[in-house]
Amino acid sequence: MNEEQAREALARHGRSLFARGYSCGTSGNLSVRLDTGGYLMSPTNVSLGRLEPSALSRLDMDGRHVDGPAPTKEAWLHFAMYKSRPDDTAVVHLHSTYATALSCLTDRPPDDVLPAITPYVVMRVGRVARVPYFRPGNADAAGTISQLAVSHRALLLANHGPVVSGADLDTAVSAAEELEETAKLFFILGDRPQWRLGPSEIDELRRVFGS
Ligand code: ZN
Repeated sequence: MNEEQAREALARHGRSLFARGYSCGTSGNLSVRLDTGGYLMSPTNVSLGRLEPSALSRLDMDGRHVDGPAPTKEAWLHFAMYKSRPDDTAVVHLHSTYATALSCLTDRPPDDVLPAITPYVVMRVGRVARVPYFRPGNADAAGTISQLAVSHRALLLANHGPVVSGADLDTAVSAAEELEETAKLFFILGDRPQWRLGPSEIDELRRVFGS
């Protein structure tokens, strides 16, 4: 994907996520790592619903802002993911409602906060780890995020929202959507007796689909 295509894809996905209620106000941000080096990122204080291909932030390989409007203040979050996931070229961060609600619960295992309700969450998202609460803008969280990102492509920032990386933007966006929908199912199901996928079903999916 060349830079022009990456710009179009970033704007298209941002608008689509916003239109379907995955982000509100100016929350949420997206980024892609370009084949030619450097990154494109959604700008600060711009709604994902208003992203324009020609008005995205361009950063160099070292994360310095080189062109376009100033990047999201959560750029460090994206770099913390890229640092540990060199094969991934896209990061999606949302404050989506149900995933954020899940991030506030105290009784979920921190290394597996999102239950395996459907096979699709196992295949597209994998095991989700919870990152302890950090004040917004506190880049001290970067170390913890990078550490967890080595073995998780999706993290849930406590009292904040999900951050998901993927081999490409389509994959990262669909994983972020799947995470949100699964969190929604979790709350709809509530405490009712229910079937969930167990270790043998999860192992089978990982074996068959390489997830
Ligand atoms: Zn955020």
